[in-house]
Amino acid sequence: MTTSVSSPTSAIPPTDEIGDRAEAALARCGVDHLAEATAAGRLYARTPITGETLLSLAQATERDVDHAVTAAHDSFRTAWRDTPAPERGALVRRLGELLREHKYDLADLVSIEAGKIRSEAAGEVQEMIDVCDFALGLSRQLYGRTMASERPGHRLMETWHPLGVVGVITAFNFPVAVWAWNTAVALVCGDTVVWKPSEMTPLTALACDALLSRAAADTGAPTNVHQVLLGGPDVGEHLVDEPRVALISATGSVRMGRTVGPRVAARLGRCLLELGGNNAAVVTPSADPELAVRGTVFAAAGTAGQRCTSLRRLIVHEDVADAITERVVDAYTQLRVGDPLSDHTLVGPLIGQRAHTAMREALTQATADGGEVLVGGNRRLEDQAPDAYYVEPAVVRMPTQTAIVRQETFAPILYVMTYRSLDEAVELHNGVSQGLSSAVFTQDQREAERFLALSDCGIVNVNIGTSGAEIGGAFGGEKDTGGGRESGSDAWKSYMRRATNTVNYSEELPLAQGVRFV
Ligand code: NAD
Repeated sequence: MTTSVSSPTSAIPPTDEIGDRAEAALARCGVDHLAEATAAGRLYARTPITGETLLSLAQATERDVDHAVTAAHDSFRTAWRDTPAPERGALVRRLGELLREHKYDLADLVSIEAGKIRSEAAGEVQEMIDVCDFALGLSRQLYGRTMASERPGHRLMETWHPLGVVGVITAFNFPVAVWAWNTAVALVCGDTVVWKPSEMTPLTALACDALLSRAAADTGAPTNVHQVLLGGPDVGEHLVDEPRVALISATGSVRMGRTVGPRVAARLGRCLLELGGNNAAVVTPSADPELAVRGTVFAAAGTAGQRCTSLRRLIVHEDVADAITERVVDAYTQLRVGDPLSDHTLVGPLIGQRAHTAMREALTQATADGGEVLVGGNRRLEDQAPDAYYVEPAVVRMPTQTAIVRQETFAPILYVMTYRSLDEAVELHNGVSQGLSSAVFTQDQREAERFLALSDCGIVNVNIGTSGAEIGGAFGGEKDTGGGRESGSDAWKSYMRRATNTVNYSEELPLAQGVRFV
């Protein structure tokens, strides 16, 4: 596209070597037998590192979905919902211990299947460990309120009860953390889980399932509390339509949410949607430039722009725009693109050809709209791995926020725009259909507070980038992002049903609101 500056740090390893590494990690996690693929239901485990196939696996059928839901439903009714919550916590504690033990096995699988660099893959597994710790504590804190009753001798209170089977559908780019956010919390809440992972990360899913089965065996929990179903959208749809699934928690694109949401609504089920973002950061004149540049580069180029919270729009005050942009562009020229399993790499591959096509088309459209590609955008390492898609993260200066900027392109493109007043910045910021993550870089408290109040996203940060959330907060976004909240804070309430109880311990039967009926 323009300046070709990044260089790979290491050769791309051959697929055989990657396959051996995956099989060794799987075996250590307890997956020693992989179901043979049948011609009818074949799912290919691929690696974006070379773009080639590692293994072929059996894909779930509609009958498998039925069996999995039946097993999870029975386990819920006959055992799990009546197991005291702190005892349910023991399962999650054991899972956390096993995750600590196998942190780097799982991280290897995440790098191999999702293309994340080693440090980010290990960070993702750490997030699983953190959420297990959180859920363990939660297992003793599923608090309900007690309210003052208007009637003498009466007690009014709320109690929380398990929901039932939770169907978890996850995206390729967080193949393990999002499962753990849902599963650790759902399990302590007394729910059982049926997981439909991304069709692009089946091996990682099998490893998580094996670790959870081992944790169940070690703690005496029923093994059927968790089921995994490998396959694509059609398998997901069977799960979504299953009336015995009380909650569908689905993470992925807005396109997926537009199908899943109405289907669950049609059967009056519950839905928790975690969909795409189009995240922006505002850099004000008072911003610490060092923080703004570092925060921008990690959020925009990290994970090769394939986080739901990746920074896609930088809205910079015109007085500092040139200086900030120049530094960001300079930092981009030093990003090392290549094998995510090498410790020196900062930017791994895109997940596949479709992502690359989307990136190329977006850059072409942005240029046609008057944008200027300041750095990056070129494909790399094609000679070594013709079926893999390595790209240089791109920075594009845009005159205005055109349609292509308002859409989420799941690739490392950062659009830079300028503003004059904070109101104008907020308008640009909120002028997209998604509402996941946002940030302001400023040292002016008035600006910070105003942005915190006016950003329409579920995540609003000050002086840190848009990506890299901690598990302690509730995670999720507004508008097209779907409105769901998972992980920390009181997100557990989505996984339980609330009952309002009135207990009469008097010898009278007074009616509320003073109603008489005699
Ligand atoms: P995707 O929408 O293609 O697939 C996500 C999951 O949904 C997969 O398991 C897929 O098989 C399943 N699916 C797709 N169509 C379905 C249908 N009709 N019925 C049932 N299941 C269906 O997304 P992806 O490419 O894997 O992931 C990238 C997208 O996910 C991006 O848009 C990203 O922003 C979003 N994402 C959001 C969050 C969040 O927490 N908000 C987190 C990670 C990723």
